[in-house]
Amino acid sequence: MKQSMTFIPTLREVPADAEVKSHQLMLRAGFTRQNTSGVYSYLPLAHKVLKKIEQIVREEMNNAGASELLMPALQQAELWQESGRWYSYGPELMRLKDRHKREFALGATHEEMITSLVRDEIKSYKRLPLSLYQIQTKFRDEKRPRFGVLRGREFLMKDAYSFHATHESLDEVYVKMFTAYQNIFSRCGLDFRAVIADSGAMGGTDTHEFMVLSDIGEDTIAYSDTSQYAANIEMAPVIATYEKSTEEQKELVKIETPDQKTIEEISTFLNVSKESCIKSVLFKVDDKFVLVLVRGDHEVNDIKVKNLFGASVVELATAEETIKALKCVPGFIGPINVSEDVEVVADHAISSVVNGVCGANEEQFHFQGVNIERDAKITQLADLRFIQEGDISPDGEGTIKFAKGIEVGHVFKLGTRYSESMNATFLDENGRTQPMIMGCYGIGVSRTLAAIIEQHNDENGIVWPESVAPFQIHVIPVNVKNDSQKDLAEKLYTEFTQSGYEVLIDDRAERVGVKFADSDLIGLPLRVTVGKKAEEGIVEVKIRKTGESFEVSVDELHEKVK
Ligand code: ATP
Ligand code: MG
Ligand code: MG
Ligand code: MG
Repeated sequence: MKQSMTFIPTLREVPADAEVKSHQLMLRAGFTRQNTSGVYSYLPLAHKVLKKIEQIVREEMNNAGASELLMPALQQAELWQESGRWYSYGPELMRLKDRHKREFALGATHEEMITSLVRDEIKSYKRLPLSLYQIQTKFRDEKRPRFGVLRGREFLMKDAYSFHATHESLDEVYVKMFTAYQNIFSRCGLDFRAVIADSGAMGGTDTHEFMVLSDIGEDTIAYSDTSQYAANIEMAPVIATYEKSTEEQKELVKIETPDQKTIEEISTFLNVSKESCIKSVLFKVDDKFVLVLVRGDHEVNDIKVKNLFGASVVELATAEETIKALKCVPGFIGPINVSEDVEVVADHAISSVVNGVCGANEEQFHFQGVNIERDAKITQLADLRFIQEGDISPDGEGTIKFAKGIEVGHVFKLGTRYSESMNATFLDENGRTQPMIMGCYGIGVSRTLAAIIEQHNDENGIVWPESVAPFQIHVIPVNVKNDSQKDLAEKLYTEFTQSGYEVLIDDRAERVGVKFADSDLIGLPLRVTVGKKAEEGIVEVKIRKTGESFEVSVDELHEKVK
């Protein structure tokens, strides 16, 4: 591509409103321009990188057995009403009306759309499993769009969905997808970690996020310095200590994610959704075991507080005992009005537990005719806090460290959350009607682009990993008015292109200082400068990553670049 003929509007100054490195560099190197808050154009260089990332994603998805399709971004409200998310998704879902006053949403995600598509076509276990994916623009009216394309209101996502007859089948595909994600992010040159995650608005239980390690990440990862344990802090345990206990007794006993049956029982009892019952902490106070359920409330659209809308403290921990205990030892705190601050909410929930204060509606304290007394036997807790650096890892191996991460991917076992609400069933081997078991798997393609830049830059600009660089070689004639420089540069451009390289040539009549500065900003892996020694057939090669540069004859260069 000739620079004189394309559109790479570079900037010398750091734009004032761009807080993070990737956003600054994407503006300065002429990759993106903002149209309105959280809405961006991807200029030719960014577009090329997006295509590279997409290609990697496609190869790995296809390899994992998924087929590509493309679904509508414009989705009728009825679909979202069927799943219930029309009411629960909140203002993040972009809604609009057509000329007949019918309501629509712009796809923030496609569980509803794909579930309706598959339920109408697949009726037998013989056609399962089935994995489908698309790469498409998503719309989310983010409360705080920021950091450029890292958190946009319109962004590019790869979303895959799998349908199964059995949980074993879902487990298999989940592992395949997990591996595909590891391959994708490795191939993009990213330093990342897969962490245990919270299922949020999606529902479901087993889920992992892929986090690119970065100080500007909005998520905190708690990981063990010696084992594989890594969790989004949202999912990391709350640690309880007892007032009267000694330092040694302030010990975390065990972290429990209750089994499916327990979740069902608890959710039935508390009359809350299953998703909000997946977090619990089992800890020891003197000789007693206490189960704390930290409730989620996904209907409220504030990421930071969604999991801390209440807590229930229950002595004893088995399913039966828990239920029994819940009947007579309530301690269940209903929805609490929430402030912005996660710590405050946690404190509020916890101190409410401690003090037996109750913000719940009265009905939650009647169960099967039993009138539950509010503050009977509420366990006194001195300190209930989030896991901290230096704590023993929940798996008992090593100590906890914290890191910041950018969520670039997310895999979920959805189970039957959508197939049940939307009636997507199949006939099993025995001719019985069953809800399909589902998984879903997302990657922020445009966010990945920014995350790569966040991890690959220096003071002069972007430093592209080869796999996703918009071009591999930057050819720079120092002076385009000099015929031998111009001719040699063009010859190299043609030859490299013919040998299969993607080449950008700076054929503009600019000062060489400008060309070099732009070249560093854009950050292609290899620069070939054609200057004064063009007549002797000698050019300068510079490796962007190391800064190493050397002169080489054109013949030798061909050998090297082959
Ligand atoms: P976040 O926690 O950052 O808001 P999410 O958990 O809401 O993300 P998912 O619903 O898991 O996002 O969507 C799948 C992927 O889409 C995410 O892992 C992320 O890479 C990407 N993504 C989500 N929201 C945005 C956004 N506003 N801008 C760019 N990419 C996004
Ligand atoms: Mg989000
Ligand atoms: Mg998230
Ligand atoms: Mg997510």
